[in-house]
Amino acid sequence: MSEKPIAAIILAAGESARMGAPKQLLNWNGRPLIVHMVEMTWNVGLTPVVVVLGAHSDQILPALAGLPVQIVQNYRWQEGMSASLNVGLAALPPDVAAALILPVDQPLLTPGHLRGLMAQWRQTHGIVVSGAPGERRGTPAVFSREFFPELASLSGDMGGRALFDRYAPQLNYTPVPNAEVFTDIDTPEVYTQLREAAGTARPPSLSAIRGVICDMDGVLWRGNTPLPGLHEFFTWMHARNLKYVLVTNNSSRTPQMYVEKLAGMGITTTPEHVLTSSQGAADYLITVQPPDAAVYAIGGTGVMDALRARGFQVLTDDATDQADYVVVGWDQQFSWRKLATATRLIRAGAQFIATNPDRTYPTEEGLVPGNGAQVAALEVATGQAPVMIGKPEPVLYEQALTRMGTTPETTLVIGDRLDTDILGGIRLGMSSALVLSGVSDAETLRASPIRPDRVFANLLELVQVWQEDTL
Ligand SMILES: [Mg+2]
Repeated sequence: MSEKPIAAIILAAGESARMGAPKQLLNWNGRPLIVHMVEMTWNVGLTPVVVVLGAHSDQILPALAGLPVQIVQNYRWQEGMSASLNVGLAALPPDVAAALILPVDQPLLTPGHLRGLMAQWRQTHGIVVSGAPGERRGTPAVFSREFFPELASLSGDMGGRALFDRYAPQLNYTPVPNAEVFTDIDTPEVYTQLREAAGTARPPSLSAIRGVICDMDGVLWRGNTPLPGLHEFFTWMHARNLKYVLVTNNSSRTPQMYVEKLAGMGITTTPEHVLTSSQGAADYLITVQPPDAAVYAIGGTGVMDALRARGFQVLTDDATDQADYVVVGWDQQFSWRKLATATRLIRAGAQFIATNPDRTYPTEEGLVPGNGAQVAALEVATGQAPVMIGKPEPVLYEQALTRMGTTPETTLVIGDRLDTDILGGIRLGMSSALVLSGVSDAETLRASPIRPDRVFANLLELVQVWQEDTL
């Protein structure tokens, strides 16, 4: 289930002598170039993201404050790229299976190309370079851990190219979308050219979208109040014959409860259009285990109903001493007794599955502990991390794609949370639209490394833009 991590090493130690100013800080889409590169690598799921700084690091460091990166210093940056590679590799934790290496100044790289390199490496291992045999090849490139010692022993400005030559017959290639991907910023003229080229790259037209994955709370309604555009949105989806799934991390309710809530707002839909993290957990279990498996479950109606509906033997007795799985969803009757039982079962070999990672849950009395808090207690007690079903992990979105029969390229994700809804969509290569009618506001967006393709005030504005896009 969980794939071995691929790290990113962003080489950003150079002096930019011909630019006259640190190129790491050049403006790219309204933010420093180095921030743009960090966001892109982190958004596609590379982890950890290691940034190697050298020249001008005192000026560059403040731009990286608060970003999810590990920063290392190459004090010998004048010796060339190899010294930076060495420092970057030394910073990687032992569980990293491979490293994607890229220079900070190839701004026309796309998330799709990075994902292509990652997918190819997962199939072939070894070394994966950008380009094609007999044509231009170069960075970014992915190296398996077995090559790290050789990479670290290179010297001067040779970088990974020396290994490309040494292992030429065994190289694997991922084609680049266009040759400009290889262009690095060396002079002010090149910088201007690349900015012009990037200006023409706009998000793909919404007219190509065939399926919609839409979050509910903060998008369709807030509390019991429908949000602007709710009716227009459903009318538009019917008129365009779009497939859709309403996806929520909330594990406590059943799909029927959401259908009824929508009916109360004048919207007709069916339970097949609703996917909760409880159902996601039950559907995931079906794929790995026959339905008669014994499951100790913590959670409310949503969790219990979903598991029983798929034929699982659901155990809730605290004296339970054998189970194949422990499924943990949000439970307002969570107790020390349940925690103890789940701990015992997981320690005895049951697989640990959690519906969703949300740490808190908003109520009238303020934020109260969410399922993530329960899961954290179990993680500490068992020393194990769960298989996580909810967003931003891919399980729920993959299930929604299967239901609709659409591909990531023709699917739009709509949500109000950057760190779950939008990040999950970006990781799977789907178009994403953030609505500012829920949790994330313009300030959250500015401060976040997660970049949705589009931002709207609410669903109403989204529908209006979509209609214009399709005319
Ligand atoms: Mg939401």
